[in-house]
Amino acid sequence: MIIGGGPAGLTAGLYAARAKLKTILLERFAPGGQILTTDWVENYPGFPDGISGYDLVDKMKGQAERFGLIIRSQEVQGLELVGEKKSVITDSGTIETRAVIIACGAAPQKLDIEGEGLLTGKGVSYCATCDGPFFRDQPVAVIGGGDTAVEEALYLTRFASKVFIIHRRDRLRAIQLIQERARNEPKIEFIWNTVALKISGDTAVKGLELKNVKTGSISTLPVEGVFVFIGYIPNSGLVRDTLSLDEWGFIKTDNEMATVIPGVFAAGDVRSKALRQVATAVGEGATAAYMAQRYIEGLGKGS
Ligand code: NAP
Repeated sequence: MIIGGGPAGLTAGLYAARAKLKTILLERFAPGGQILTTDWVENYPGFPDGISGYDLVDKMKGQAERFGLIIRSQEVQGLELVGEKKSVITDSGTIETRAVIIACGAAPQKLDIEGEGLLTGKGVSYCATCDGPFFRDQPVAVIGGGDTAVEEALYLTRFASKVFIIHRRDRLRAIQLIQERARNEPKIEFIWNTVALKISGDTAVKGLELKNVKTGSISTLPVEGVFVFIGYIPNSGLVRDTLSLDEWGFIKTDNEMATVIPGVFAAGDVRSKALRQVATAVGEGATAAYMAQRYIEGLGKGS
């Protein structure tokens, strides 16, 4: 059983199905994961001109299904992982399995400030690809200083009249190449050493209340959209009490994707690691499937 249908899960599915293991992948919505909200992927090898997130996932899904991967839209509600026979409890029944690969990914971190919850979907967004086109010729703010924030800010310049990048420090975390692109983009303006205190508006975003952390001064920035890209939290709630997690809640594994429970593997963004990329996710998915195959063979029952 594979839980999660992003690049890690789909690659695990491809390898496991191609190894003739009866393999089912469960995904709450449609396969794809966060990559579906990525407009253009230009650092996945083999696509020198880049590829849209949607097309990349569609190709991965088709390739895995060609080898027999079964993909079901079911939400996992519980896992019983200890012992040789493991149970995956879903919203439409329980499935028994011998090996589980957890590839549930991660979800955007919230700012946790006034107005964020109320205005989510009404101007506050965590996905530029999904919501960028709503802000044609309007000023928007992007909060964060990592690769995601700066890349998505660049994407938003296609629509918005102005994109303010609000960062809590005076230096970006994003890689140099992306930084340079942003600095050369006339529609982008950086607001340094600044945090957002409040998102104002009743039925739509009207502006942001900002605080300069160096001077303490408070200001108001009139924007119609607020895009929050301040990192991710792992979707590891299902295994919070059973697997070993790092301090941020990502699943710890060894180099072969094995968790502390025999027959349970983790791959992709939900795993504790340094780099969260499609390229790393697919490698981990392949390794997890291979090790799951070896584990099952070791049980002496074959597939
Ligand atoms: P990230 O690298 O963890 O960056 C999060 C950013 O948000 C940081 O600049 C951080 O500030 C800021 N931040 C965190 N909490 C905040 C808060 N409460 N208030 C205000 N700002 C806050 O996350 P990410 O950009 O989503 O990237 C995640 C991973 O995906 C990284 O490994 C990244 O390299 C990778 N990624 C790669 C690409 C690419 O290569 N094309 C694209 C997207 C993502 P500080 O800098 O002060 O900590």
